[in-house]
Amino acid sequence: MIKDIIDKKRLGEILSYDELETIFMGYLNGQVKDYQMSSLLMAICINGMVLDEIFDLCDIFIKSGERLDFSEISKNTVDKHSTGGIGDKTTLVIVPIVASLDIPTIKTSGRGLGYTGGTIDKLESIKGYRTDLNNDEIFNSVKKVGAVITGQTANLVPLDKVIYALRDVTATVSSIPLIAVSIMSKKIAGGATNILLDVKYGSGALVKTEEEALSLANLMKIIGEKYGKNVRFVISNMDNPLGYAVGNSLEVMEAIRVLKGEEKGKFYDLCIELATHMVSMSKNISLEEAYKLILDVINNGEAYNKFLEIVKNQGGDINSLEISKEKYEYFSEKSGVIKKIDALEVGRLSLNLGAGRIKKDDKIDHSVGIVLEKEVGDSVKKGDLLMTVYKNKEIEIDYKNIFDID
Ligand code: URA
Repeated sequence: MIKDIIDKKRLGEILSYDELETIFMGYLNGQVKDYQMSSLLMAICINGMVLDEIFDLCDIFIKSGERLDFSEISKNTVDKHSTGGIGDKTTLVIVPIVASLDIPTIKTSGRGLGYTGGTIDKLESIKGYRTDLNNDEIFNSVKKVGAVITGQTANLVPLDKVIYALRDVTATVSSIPLIAVSIMSKKIAGGATNILLDVKYGSGALVKTEEEALSLANLMKIIGEKYGKNVRFVISNMDNPLGYAVGNSLEVMEAIRVLKGEEKGKFYDLCIELATHMVSMSKNISLEEAYKLILDVINNGEAYNKFLEIVKNQGGDINSLEISKEKYEYFSEKSGVIKKIDALEVGRLSLNLGAGRIKKDDKIDHSVGIVLEKEVGDSVKKGDLLMTVYKNKEIEIDYKNIFDID
C-alpha cells in the first residue's frame, strides 16, 4: 500500500526498487495523489536516500520516457547543466563557443523556477526563436549547424516534469538526492557522451554551502559514470548575481557582448572555465590547449557567428530584442566598497518586474530587468550609478536591500 511506503520512508528506512517504482510511476499515471507524493517527498527531504535508492530512482526516472541516441552523428557529443541562479546565462555563451570548435552540442534547457531565470525564457525574447523542437528537428539542427538549444521534448523524463512541479510548491526542491536524480536522469536520457555540471552554492542557489554543492556534484558524477558518461563538474558561488544583467532580453544582450569579447569580468571568466572543460573533455586535450582554442574563436568572431547560426536555424530574428523604454537609475548615497550584491534580492526584484513567473501560468515580460553597474569589490563614490532598472509597471524598489556598501 502507498501509505506503507510513505511510512517506511518517514521512519528513515530504505525503499526497494519495486516500492519506488510503484509510488513514482503511480504518481505519473495519476493513481498516486499529490498529497501522497508530497508527503513522500518531504520524508525523502528529511531522511535522505542511500546510494542504491538514488540509483534505483534515477533508473525509474529515465525509463519513464525515451532516451535519445546521437551516436550516429558523433561519439563525442557534449552537454552541460547548471543548477541555476540569478543572472545565469552561461548556456547562451558556452554552447556557441563549443559548437564553433566542431563539437556537436545538444542543450535542452528549462524555464525559470522561483527567482532563478530559465534559458528557454531568455531565448524567447528573440522573436520567432523556437524552443519546442521535436527529436527529428534536434537531430537535423545538430547535423546542420552543430548545435541546438531547445526545451525538453515532451517524452524526455516525463516523471521529472510532474515531480519537479510538485517539489517547487512543497518546499522540497533543495533535497540533494532529488536534485541529483532530477538533473542526471535528464542528462542521461538526453544522450550526450560528455556532461559538464556547473554546480552553484550561495544565497541565490538551490544549495547554500560549498560542502553541499560538492556532495551534490560528486553524487551526480557517480550516477553519470554508472551510465558510462564522462562527467566533470565546476563548483561556483552564487551569493552575488552572475554578470551585470538580470532579465530576459538584457541577458541575451549581455551574452552577445561576452561572445564578441566586448565584456570581461566574473561572468566571462566562468563561461571560459566551463567551455574549457567541455572542449577539453570532448576533444580529449589538455585544459591549456582547450583554453587557447576558445580564445581564438572569441577573438576571430566564430563563436558569435555560431550563435547567430543557431538563432537563425531555430527561426529567431536577432534584431528583435526589445528593452523597456521606462528606465530608472539608482545612485549611491554613500562612498565605500561594494561588499555584497544580494542575488536573492535581485532575483525578487526581477520577478516583481515581471521578468519571471510568480504563478505557473504567468506571462513573462521579456523587456524588463536590471543592469547592475558595479561588481562586488568595486569602490563607489556618493552619487555613482549603482543600477539601472527597466520596468513597465510601478513597483517599490529600495536599492539598499540589494547593495551592501561599507
Ligand atoms: N535543476 C533541475 O533540473 N532539477 C533540480 O532538481 C534542480 C535543478
